Amino acid sequence: MAETKESIVMFPYMAQGHINPFLALALRIEKRNKYTIIFVNTPLNNKKLRSCLPLNSSIHLLEIPFNSSNHDLPPNSENLDSLPHHLFPNLLKASLSLKPHFRKLIYNLIHKENGQKPLCIISDMFLGWCIETAQEFGIFHSIFITGGGFGSACYYSFWINLPHNTDSDEFVLPDFPEASTFHVTQMSEPLRVTDGSDSISVFHREELLCHWSKADGILFNTVEEIDKLGLMYFRRKLGRQVWSIGPVILSPGSKRDFGVSPEVCKNWLDKKPPCSVLYVSFGSQNTISAWNMMQLAMALEGCGKNFIWVVRPPLGFDINSEFRANECLPQGFEERIKDSGRGLLVHKWAPQVEILSHKSLSTFLSHCGWNSVLESLSHGVPMIGWPVAAEQFYNVKLLEDMIGVCVEVARGKRSEVFHEDIMEKIKLVMNESEKGKEMRGKALQVKAIINNAIKDEGNSKGSSMDAMDQFLNAALNLKTKGKF
Ligand code: UDP
Repeated sequence: MAETKESIVMFPYMAQGHINPFLALALRIEKRNKYTIIFVNTPLNNKKLRSCLPLNSSIHLLEIPFNSSNHDLPPNSENLDSLPHHLFPNLLKASLSLKPHFRKLIYNLIHKENGQKPLCIISDMFLGWCIETAQEFGIFHSIFITGGGFGSACYYSFWINLPHNTDSDEFVLPDFPEASTFHVTQMSEPLRVTDGSDSISVFHREELLCHWSKADGILFNTVEEIDKLGLMYFRRKLGRQVWSIGPVILSPGSKRDFGVSPEVCKNWLDKKPPCSVLYVSFGSQNTISAWNMMQLAMALEGCGKNFIWVVRPPLGFDINSEFRANECLPQGFEERIKDSGRGLLVHKWAPQVEILSHKSLSTFLSHCGWNSVLESLSHGVPMIGWPVAAEQFYNVKLLEDMIGVCVEVARGKRSEVFHEDIMEKIKLVMNESEKGKEMRGKALQVKAIINNAIKDEGNSKGSSMDAMDQFLNAALNLKTKGKF
Protein backbone atom coordinates (compact mmCIF):
# COMPACT_ATOMS: atom_id res chain seq x y z
CA MET A 1 0.00 0.00 0.00
CA ALA A 2 1.30 3.45 -0.88
CA GLU A 3 2.54 5.38 2.11
CA THR A 4 0.52 8.49 2.93
CA LYS A 5 2.69 11.53 2.48
CA GLU A 6 2.89 14.23 5.12
CA SER A 7 1.33 17.46 3.91
CA ILE A 8 2.78 20.95 4.13
CA VAL A 9 0.53 24.00 3.87
CA MET A 10 2.12 27.08 2.30
CA PHE A 11 0.52 30.51 2.36
CA PRO A 12 2.29 33.50 0.73
CA TYR A 13 1.18 37.12 0.91
CA MET A 14 -0.56 38.39 -2.22
CA ALA A 15 2.41 39.92 -4.01
CA GLN A 16 4.50 38.45 -6.81
CA GLY A 17 7.74 39.08 -4.90
CA HIS A 18 6.36 36.77 -2.18
CA ILE A 19 4.40 34.24 -4.25
CA ASN A 20 7.41 33.50 -6.49
CA PRO A 21 9.84 32.44 -3.75
CA PHE A 22 7.06 30.46 -2.04
CA LEU A 23 6.40 28.64 -5.28
CA ALA A 24 10.12 28.03 -5.77
CA LEU A 25 10.29 26.62 -2.24
CA ALA A 26 7.22 24.46 -2.88
CA LEU A 27 8.85 23.04 -6.02
CA ARG A 28 12.05 22.36 -4.09
CA ILE A 29 10.18 20.49 -1.34
CA GLU A 30 8.10 18.64 -3.94
CA LYS A 31 11.32 17.26 -5.47
CA ARG A 32 11.96 15.33 -2.27
CA ASN A 33 8.97 13.19 -3.14
CA LYS A 34 7.95 12.80 0.47
CA TYR A 35 5.44 15.58 0.97
CA THR A 36 2.13 16.75 -0.40
CA ILE A 37 2.20 20.52 -0.89
CA ILE A 38 -0.96 22.52 -0.33
CA PHE A 39 -0.53 26.03 -1.68
CA VAL A 40 -3.10 28.55 -0.44
CA ASN A 41 -4.07 31.86 -2.00
CA THR A 42 -6.94 34.00 -3.22
CA PRO A 43 -8.87 33.06 -6.38
CA LEU A 44 -7.20 35.36 -8.92
CA ASN A 45 -3.71 34.59 -7.67
CA ASN A 46 -4.44 30.88 -7.87
CA LYS A 47 -5.76 31.28 -11.39
CA LYS A 48 -2.44 32.87 -12.42
CA LEU A 49 -0.49 30.25 -10.48
CA ARG A 50 -2.27 27.43 -12.24
CA SER A 51 -0.72 28.53 -15.53
CA CYS A 52 2.77 28.80 -13.94
CA LEU A 53 2.94 25.33 -12.45
CA PRO A 54 4.93 22.73 -14.37
CA LEU A 55 2.58 20.25 -16.07
CA ASN A 56 3.73 17.32 -13.94
CA SER A 57 3.52 19.21 -10.63
CA SER A 58 1.49 17.62 -7.87
CA ILE A 59 1.12 20.85 -5.87
CA HIS A 60 -2.48 21.38 -4.76
CA LEU A 61 -3.80 24.91 -5.11
CA LEU A 62 -6.49 25.72 -2.57
CA GLU A 63 -8.27 29.04 -2.59
CA ILE A 64 -9.83 31.19 0.06
CA PRO A 65 -12.33 33.93 -0.76
CA PHE A 66 -11.37 37.56 -0.93
CA ASN A 67 -13.35 40.57 -2.10
CA SER A 68 -11.08 43.57 -2.61
CA SER A 69 -14.04 45.96 -3.01
CA ASN A 70 -14.82 45.45 0.70
CA HIS A 71 -11.46 46.95 1.65
CA ASP A 72 -11.23 50.29 -0.17
CA LEU A 73 -9.48 48.60 -3.04
CA PRO A 74 -10.44 48.52 -6.72
CA PRO A 75 -12.44 45.42 -7.75
CA ASN A 76 -10.37 42.31 -8.42
CA SER A 77 -7.25 43.69 -6.72
CA GLU A 78 -5.70 40.60 -5.23
CA ASN A 79 -2.04 41.32 -5.86
CA LEU A 80 0.26 44.17 -4.94
CA ASP A 81 1.51 44.24 -8.55
CA SER A 82 -1.82 45.61 -9.79
CA LEU A 83 -2.13 48.36 -7.16
CA PRO A 84 -0.95 51.96 -7.07
CA HIS A 85 1.59 52.57 -4.33
CA HIS A 86 -0.69 54.50 -1.96
CA LEU A 87 -3.03 51.49 -1.70
CA PHE A 88 -0.33 49.07 -0.50
CA PRO A 89 -1.33 49.53 3.19
CA ASN A 90 -4.96 48.74 2.33
CA LEU A 91 -4.04 45.35 0.90
CA LEU A 92 -1.89 44.62 3.94
CA LYS A 93 -4.76 45.45 6.29
CA ALA A 94 -7.26 43.62 4.08
CA SER A 95 -5.22 40.42 4.39
CA LEU A 96 -6.46 40.17 8.00
CA SER A 97 -9.90 39.34 6.57
CA LEU A 98 -8.41 36.01 5.38
CA LYS A 99 -8.04 34.75 8.97
CA PRO A 100 -11.39 32.96 9.41
CA HIS A 101 -11.17 31.48 5.91
CA PHE A 102 -7.70 30.13 6.57
CA ARG A 103 -8.89 28.59 9.84
CA LYS A 104 -11.79 26.96 8.05
CA LEU A 105 -9.49 25.61 5.34
CA ILE A 106 -7.23 23.95 7.93
CA TYR A 107 -10.26 22.64 9.82
CA ASN A 108 -11.60 21.09 6.60
CA LEU A 109 -8.24 19.58 5.73
CA ILE A 110 -8.14 17.82 9.08
CA HIS A 111 -11.78 16.88 9.47
CA LYS A 112 -13.15 16.55 5.97
CA GLU A 113 -10.59 15.93 3.22
CA ASN A 114 -8.46 13.10 4.52
CA GLY A 115 -8.51 13.47 8.25
CA GLN A 116 -4.76 14.04 8.33
CA LYS A 117 -3.25 16.91 10.21
CA PRO A 118 -0.67 18.81 8.12
CA LEU A 119 2.93 18.34 9.18
CA CYS A 120 3.43 22.10 9.18
CA ILE A 121 2.18 25.46 8.03
CA ILE A 122 4.62 27.81 6.32
CA SER A 123 3.12 31.28 6.24
CA ASP A 124 4.35 34.57 4.88
CA MET A 125 6.18 37.18 7.00
CA PHE A 126 3.05 39.35 6.59
CA LEU A 127 0.68 36.51 7.51
CA GLY A 128 2.25 35.60 10.84
CA TRP A 129 -1.23 35.43 12.36
CA CYS A 130 -1.52 31.91 10.90
CA ILE A 131 0.23 30.92 14.15
CA GLU A 132 -3.16 31.26 15.89
CA THR A 133 -4.68 28.56 13.68
CA ALA A 134 -1.53 26.45 13.89
CA GLN A 135 -1.61 26.56 17.69
CA GLU A 136 -5.35 25.84 17.86
CA PHE A 137 -4.92 22.67 15.81
CA GLY A 138 -1.48 21.75 17.16
CA ILE A 139 0.45 22.16 13.93
CA PHE A 140 4.13 23.11 13.60
CA HIS A 141 4.37 26.62 12.17
CA SER A 142 7.16 28.50 10.48
CA ILE A 143 7.27 31.94 8.96
CA PHE A 144 9.03 32.22 5.61
CA ILE A 145 10.73 35.57 5.21
CA THR A 146 11.21 36.15 1.51
CA GLY A 147 13.62 39.01 2.21
CA GLY A 148 17.24 38.78 3.28
CA GLY A 149 18.54 38.48 6.84
CA PHE A 150 20.21 41.88 7.08
CA GLY A 151 17.46 43.82 5.29
CA SER A 152 14.72 42.15 7.34
CA ALA A 153 16.61 42.69 10.60
CA CYS A 154 16.94 46.42 9.87
CA TYR A 155 13.29 46.57 8.79
CA TYR A 156 12.20 44.84 12.01
CA SER A 157 14.41 46.98 14.22
CA PHE A 158 13.34 50.23 12.55
CA TRP A 159 9.65 49.47 13.12
CA ILE A 160 9.88 48.24 16.69
CA ASN A 161 12.19 51.04 17.85
CA LEU A 162 10.02 53.98 16.79
CA PRO A 163 10.30 56.92 17.00
CA HIS A 164 13.78 57.60 15.67
CA ASN A 165 15.61 60.76 16.45
CA THR A 166 15.89 62.36 13.04
CA ASP A 167 17.42 65.61 14.35
CA SER A 168 20.76 64.10 13.63
CA ASP A 169 21.50 62.83 10.11
CA GLU A 170 23.19 59.67 11.26
CA PHE A 171 22.18 57.12 13.83
CA VAL A 172 22.66 53.55 15.03
CA LEU A 173 19.84 51.08 15.71
CA PRO A 174 19.77 50.52 19.49
CA ASP A 175 19.33 46.74 19.33
CA PHE A 176 21.40 46.21 16.18
CA PRO A 177 24.58 48.25 16.59
CA GLU A 178 26.57 45.76 14.48
CA ALA A 179 24.64 47.06 11.47
CA SER A 180 26.71 50.22 11.89
CA THR A 181 25.61 53.76 11.06
CA PHE A 182 22.56 54.65 8.98
CA HIS A 183 21.94 57.95 7.28
CA VAL A 184 18.49 59.45 7.61
CA THR A 185 17.96 59.05 3.84
CA GLN A 186 18.24 55.28 4.29
CA MET A 187 14.90 55.23 6.08
CA SER A 188 11.77 54.83 4.04
CA GLU A 189 9.44 57.78 4.37
CA PRO A 190 6.83 56.51 6.83
CA LEU A 191 9.59 55.59 9.30
CA ARG A 192 11.22 58.98 9.00
CA VAL A 193 8.15 61.01 9.91
CA THR A 194 6.19 58.90 12.36
CA ASP A 195 6.31 58.94 16.17
CA GLY A 196 4.98 55.38 16.13
CA SER A 197 1.36 56.13 16.97
CA ASP A 198 -0.08 56.27 13.42
CA SER A 199 -2.21 53.38 12.23
CA ILE A 200 0.43 51.81 9.96
CA SER A 201 3.06 51.78 12.72
CA VAL A 202 0.61 50.27 15.18
CA PHE A 203 -0.46 47.74 12.54
CA HIS A 204 3.15 46.77 11.92
CA ARG A 205 3.85 46.21 15.60
CA GLU A 206 0.56 44.64 16.67
CA GLU A 207 -0.57 42.70 13.62
CA LEU A 208 2.58 41.84 11.67
CA LEU A 209 5.86 41.76 13.55
CA CYS A 210 4.56 40.54 16.93
CA HIS A 211 3.92 37.06 15.49
CA TRP A 212 7.51 36.47 14.43
CA SER A 213 8.60 35.68 17.98
CA LYS A 214 5.76 33.17 18.45
CA ALA A 215 6.45 30.95 15.43
CA ASP A 216 8.24 27.63 15.94
CA GLY A 217 10.91 28.91 13.62
CA ILE A 218 11.72 31.22 10.75
CA LEU A 219 12.88 30.33 7.26
CA PHE A 220 14.89 32.91 5.32
CA ASN A 221 15.44 33.14 1.61
CA THR A 222 19.12 33.85 2.00
CA VAL A 223 22.51 32.22 2.37
CA GLU A 224 24.11 31.96 5.80
CA GLU A 225 27.66 32.61 4.56
CA ILE A 226 26.87 36.01 3.03
CA ASP A 227 24.13 37.28 5.35
CA LYS A 228 25.05 36.13 8.85
CA LEU A 229 24.69 39.42 10.70
CA GLY A 230 20.94 39.74 10.18
CA LEU A 231 20.31 36.06 10.88
CA MET A 232 22.24 36.35 14.16
CA TYR A 233 20.14 39.39 15.06
CA PHE A 234 16.95 37.34 14.76
CA ARG A 235 18.40 34.38 16.64
CA ARG A 236 19.28 36.71 19.49
CA LYS A 237 16.22 38.93 19.36
CA LEU A 238 13.47 36.36 18.85
CA GLY A 239 15.07 33.31 20.44
CA ARG A 240 13.63 31.21 17.61
CA GLN A 241 15.19 28.69 15.29
CA VAL A 242 16.30 30.41 12.12
CA TRP A 243 16.94 28.39 8.97
CA SER A 244 18.66 30.01 6.02
CA ILE A 245 17.54 28.01 3.00
CA GLY A 246 18.14 30.30 0.04
CA PRO A 247 18.34 31.19 -2.61
CA VAL A 248 14.99 29.82 -3.64
CA ILE A 249 14.37 31.31 -7.06
CA LEU A 250 11.90 30.37 -9.77
CA SER A 251 13.91 28.93 -12.61
CA PRO A 252 13.81 30.48 -16.09
CA GLY A 253 10.85 29.43 -18.12
CA SER A 254 8.19 30.36 -15.57
CA LYS A 255 5.34 31.58 -17.71
CA ARG A 256 4.43 35.25 -17.63
CA ASP A 257 3.25 38.02 -19.95
CA PHE A 258 6.61 39.36 -21.01
CA GLY A 259 7.00 42.72 -22.78
CA VAL A 260 9.49 40.88 -24.97
CA SER A 261 9.73 37.14 -25.45
CA PRO A 262 12.66 35.29 -23.84
CA GLU A 263 13.71 34.20 -27.37
CA VAL A 264 13.92 37.78 -28.68
CA CYS A 265 15.89 38.79 -25.61
CA LYS A 266 18.25 35.85 -26.00
CA ASN A 267 18.81 36.55 -29.71
CA TRP A 268 19.58 40.17 -28.91
CA LEU A 269 22.00 39.21 -26.13
CA ASP A 270 23.61 36.49 -28.29
CA LYS A 271 24.84 39.21 -30.65
CA LYS A 272 26.63 41.15 -27.91
CA PRO A 273 30.17 40.47 -26.68
CA PRO A 274 30.54 38.61 -23.36
CA CYS A 275 30.13 40.73 -20.25
CA SER A 276 29.11 43.87 -22.15
CA VAL A 277 25.44 44.51 -21.30
CA LEU A 278 23.87 46.54 -18.48
CA TYR A 279 20.42 45.40 -17.34
CA VAL A 280 18.18 48.04 -15.71
CA SER A 281 15.02 47.23 -13.76
CA PHE A 282 13.16 48.53 -10.72
CA GLY A 283 11.26 45.33 -9.99
CA SER A 284 7.58 44.55 -10.07
CA GLN A 285 6.12 47.49 -8.11
CA ASN A 286 8.45 50.44 -8.38
CA THR A 287 9.34 53.17 -10.78
CA ILE A 288 11.29 56.46 -10.62
CA SER A 289 10.39 60.11 -11.13
CA ALA A 290 10.02 61.65 -14.60
CA TRP A 291 13.18 63.76 -14.00
CA ASN A 292 15.25 60.74 -12.96
CA MET A 293 13.94 58.70 -15.87
CA MET A 294 15.10 61.39 -18.28
CA GLN A 295 18.53 61.53 -16.60
CA LEU A 296 18.83 57.74 -16.67
CA ALA A 297 18.02 57.73 -20.41
CA MET A 298 20.68 60.37 -21.06
CA ALA A 299 23.22 58.38 -19.03
CA LEU A 300 22.44 55.16 -20.89
CA GLU A 301 22.80 56.87 -24.23
CA GLY A 302 25.90 58.80 -23.17
CA CYS A 303 27.90 55.97 -21.59
CA GLY A 304 28.20 54.00 -24.81
CA LYS A 305 27.33 50.62 -23.21
CA ASN A 306 24.84 48.03 -24.39
CA PHE A 307 21.75 47.91 -22.22
CA ILE A 308 18.34 46.35 -21.63
CA TRP A 309 15.96 48.65 -19.74
CA VAL A 310 12.58 47.58 -18.37
CA VAL A 311 10.46 50.71 -18.61
CA ARG A 312 7.38 51.67 -16.64
CA PRO A 313 5.52 55.02 -16.52
CA PRO A 314 7.17 57.37 -14.00
CA LEU A 315 5.97 58.22 -10.48
CA GLY A 316 2.59 59.88 -10.43
CA PHE A 317 1.22 57.60 -13.21
CA ASP A 318 -0.29 54.15 -13.00
CA ILE A 319 2.79 51.95 -13.40
CA ASN A 320 0.69 49.28 -15.04
CA SER A 321 -0.51 51.63 -17.78
CA GLU A 322 1.09 51.80 -21.19
CA PHE A 323 4.58 53.32 -21.35
CA ARG A 324 4.86 56.13 -23.91
CA ALA A 325 8.51 56.58 -24.78
CA ASN A 326 7.92 59.86 -26.63
CA GLU A 327 6.45 61.43 -23.47
CA CYS A 328 8.93 60.11 -20.91
CA LEU A 329 12.27 59.85 -22.70
CA PRO A 330 14.46 62.27 -24.68
CA GLN A 331 13.19 63.03 -28.20
CA GLY A 332 13.98 60.17 -30.59
CA PHE A 333 15.63 58.04 -27.85
CA GLU A 334 13.83 54.81 -28.69
CA GLU A 335 14.55 55.06 -32.42
CA ARG A 336 18.21 55.95 -31.90
CA ILE A 337 18.97 53.06 -29.55
CA LYS A 338 17.10 50.68 -31.83
CA ASP A 339 18.98 51.85 -34.95
CA SER A 340 22.34 51.61 -33.24
CA GLY A 341 21.42 48.18 -31.86
CA ARG A 342 22.84 49.28 -28.52
CA GLY A 343 19.75 49.23 -26.39
CA LEU A 344 16.59 47.22 -25.90
CA LEU A 345 13.60 48.84 -24.20
CA VAL A 346 11.30 46.29 -22.65
CA HIS A 347 7.86 47.48 -21.73
CA LYS A 348 6.65 46.45 -18.27
CA TRP A 349 8.07 42.97 -17.76
CA ALA A 350 11.27 41.27 -18.88
CA PRO A 351 12.43 37.64 -18.54
CA GLN A 352 14.83 38.71 -15.79
CA VAL A 353 16.40 35.41 -14.81
CA GLU A 354 17.07 34.55 -18.46
CA ILE A 355 18.75 37.94 -18.91
CA LEU A 356 20.87 37.71 -15.77
CA SER A 357 22.04 34.22 -16.68
CA HIS A 358 23.24 35.22 -20.17
CA LYS A 359 27.00 35.38 -20.70
CA SER A 360 26.73 38.84 -22.32
CA LEU A 361 25.39 40.33 -19.10
CA SER A 362 27.84 42.48 -17.17
CA THR A 363 26.01 44.52 -14.53
CA PHE A 364 22.53 44.98 -13.05
CA LEU A 365 21.27 48.47 -12.19
CA SER A 366 18.56 47.53 -9.73
CA HIS A 367 16.26 48.83 -7.01
CA CYS A 368 17.73 45.91 -5.00
CA GLY A 369 14.53 44.12 -4.08
CA TRP A 370 15.71 40.91 -2.46
CA ASN A 371 14.63 38.57 -5.26
CA SER A 372 16.54 40.66 -7.77
CA VAL A 373 19.58 40.64 -5.47
CA LEU A 374 19.52 36.85 -5.17
CA GLU A 375 19.03 36.40 -8.90
CA SER A 376 21.93 38.72 -9.65
CA LEU A 377 24.32 37.19 -7.10
CA SER A 378 23.43 33.64 -8.15
CA HIS A 379 24.75 34.53 -11.60
CA GLY A 380 27.81 36.42 -10.40
CA VAL A 381 26.52 39.78 -11.68
CA PRO A 382 27.66 42.91 -9.75
CA MET A 383 25.10 45.61 -9.10
CA ILE A 384 24.52 49.32 -9.23
CA GLY A 385 22.01 50.05 -6.46
CA TRP A 386 19.14 52.50 -6.77
CA PRO A 387 16.92 51.66 -3.77
CA VAL A 388 13.54 53.37 -3.73
CA ALA A 389 11.54 51.89 -0.85
CA ALA A 390 11.24 49.59 2.15
CA GLU A 391 14.19 47.32 2.99
CA GLN A 392 15.90 48.01 -0.36
CA PHE A 393 18.02 50.69 1.39
CA TYR A 394 19.39 48.10 3.80
CA ASN A 395 19.94 45.53 1.06
CA VAL A 396 22.20 48.02 -0.69
CA LYS A 397 24.08 48.66 2.57
CA LEU A 398 24.72 44.93 2.90
CA LEU A 399 25.79 44.58 -0.74
CA GLU A 400 28.03 47.65 -0.82
CA ASP A 401 29.53 47.95 2.66
CA MET A 402 29.67 44.32 3.73
CA ILE A 403 29.88 42.14 0.62
CA GLY A 404 31.45 44.61 -1.82
CA VAL A 405 29.47 43.73 -4.95
CA CYS A 406 27.50 46.95 -5.41
CA VAL A 407 27.81 50.72 -5.67
CA GLU A 408 24.86 52.94 -4.86
CA VAL A 409 23.95 55.50 -7.51
CA ALA A 410 20.83 57.12 -6.01
CA ARG A 411 18.54 56.74 -3.03
CA GLY A 412 14.82 57.19 -2.49
CA LYS A 413 11.93 58.43 -4.56
CA ARG A 414 12.54 62.12 -4.09
CA SER A 415 16.24 62.40 -4.83
CA GLU A 416 17.19 64.22 -8.03
CA VAL A 417 19.94 62.44 -9.87
CA PHE A 418 22.13 63.82 -12.65
CA HIS A 419 23.06 61.85 -15.74
CA GLU A 420 26.79 62.59 -15.30
CA ASP A 421 26.73 60.84 -11.91
CA ILE A 422 24.84 57.84 -13.22
CA MET A 423 27.26 57.58 -16.14
CA GLU A 424 30.24 57.71 -13.79
CA LYS A 425 28.89 54.77 -11.75
CA ILE A 426 28.09 52.72 -14.85
CA LYS A 427 31.63 53.24 -16.16
CA LEU A 428 33.14 52.54 -12.75
CA VAL A 429 31.56 49.09 -12.63
CA MET A 430 31.61 48.14 -16.32
CA ASN A 431 35.02 49.48 -17.37
CA GLU A 432 38.32 47.90 -16.53
CA SER A 433 38.77 50.09 -13.44
CA GLU A 434 40.31 48.58 -10.32
CA LYS A 435 36.99 48.96 -8.53
CA GLY A 436 35.08 47.31 -11.40
CA LYS A 437 37.49 44.36 -11.48
CA GLU A 438 37.30 43.97 -7.73
CA MET A 439 33.50 43.98 -7.75
CA ARG A 440 33.29 41.45 -10.57
CA GLY A 441 35.79 39.22 -8.76
CA LYS A 442 33.75 39.40 -5.57
CA ALA A 443 30.50 38.74 -7.42
CA LEU A 444 32.03 35.55 -8.84
CA GLN A 445 33.17 34.49 -5.37
CA VAL A 446 29.65 35.05 -4.04
CA LYS A 447 28.24 33.00 -6.92
CA ALA A 448 30.53 30.12 -5.90
CA ILE A 449 29.45 30.44 -2.25
CA ILE A 450 25.80 30.34 -3.32
CA ASN A 451 26.33 27.32 -5.57
CA ASN A 452 27.98 25.58 -2.68
CA ALA A 453 25.14 26.42 -0.29
CA ILE A 454 22.55 24.73 -2.54
CA LYS A 455 24.69 21.68 -3.32
CA ASP A 456 22.66 18.56 -2.73
CA GLU A 457 24.71 15.47 -3.49
CA GLY A 458 23.89 12.61 -1.17
CA ASN A 459 25.80 13.17 2.03
CA SER A 460 27.48 16.31 0.76
CA LYS A 461 25.03 19.10 1.33
CA GLY A 462 25.52 22.85 1.30
CA SER A 463 24.43 25.03 4.21
CA SER A 464 21.03 25.91 2.71
CA MET A 465 20.14 22.31 1.92
CA ASP A 466 21.30 21.29 5.36
CA ALA A 467 19.10 23.96 6.93
CA MET A 468 16.18 22.70 4.85
CA ASP A 469 16.70 19.20 6.30
CA GLN A 470 16.93 20.64 9.80
CA PHE A 471 13.66 22.49 9.34
CA LEU A 472 11.78 19.45 8.02
CA ASN A 473 13.29 17.25 10.73
CA ALA A 474 12.27 19.74 13.42
CA ALA A 475 8.66 19.48 12.23
CA LEU A 476 8.82 15.67 11.95
CA ASN A 477 10.52 15.22 15.33
CA LEU A 478 7.97 17.25 17.17
CA LYS A 479 5.16 15.37 15.48
CA THR A 480 6.77 12.02 16.33
CA LYS A 481 7.21 13.06 19.94
CA GLY A 482 3.51 13.88 19.99
CA LYS A 483 4.12 17.53 20.77
CA PHE A 484 2.00 18.26 17.71
N1 UDP B 1 10.82 40.51 -12.42
C1 UDP B 1 10.89 40.00 -13.69
N2 UDP B 1 10.80 40.86 -14.73
C2 UDP B 1 10.66 42.20 -14.58
C3 UDP B 1 10.61 42.72 -13.26
C4 UDP B 1 10.71 41.84 -12.21
O1 UDP B 1 11.01 38.78 -13.89
O2 UDP B 1 10.59 42.91 -15.58
C5 UDP B 1 10.90 39.57 -11.29
C6 UDP B 1 12.31 39.46 -10.76
O3 UDP B 1 13.01 38.44 -11.46
C7 UDP B 1 12.08 39.16 -9.29
C8 UDP B 1 10.76 39.82 -8.98
O4 UDP B 1 10.11 40.06 -10.22
O5 UDP B 1 11.96 37.77 -9.11
C9 UDP B 1 10.92 41.15 -8.28
O6 UDP B 1 11.17 40.92 -6.95
P1 UDP B 1 12.10 41.86 -6.09
O7 UDP B 1 12.14 41.28 -4.72
O8 UDP B 1 13.40 42.04 -6.75
O9 UDP B 1 11.40 43.25 -6.11
P2 UDP B 1 9.88 43.73 -5.87
O10 UDP B 1 9.24 43.67 -7.20
O11 UDP B 1 9.27 42.79 -4.88
O12 UDP B 1 10.07 45.12 -5.40
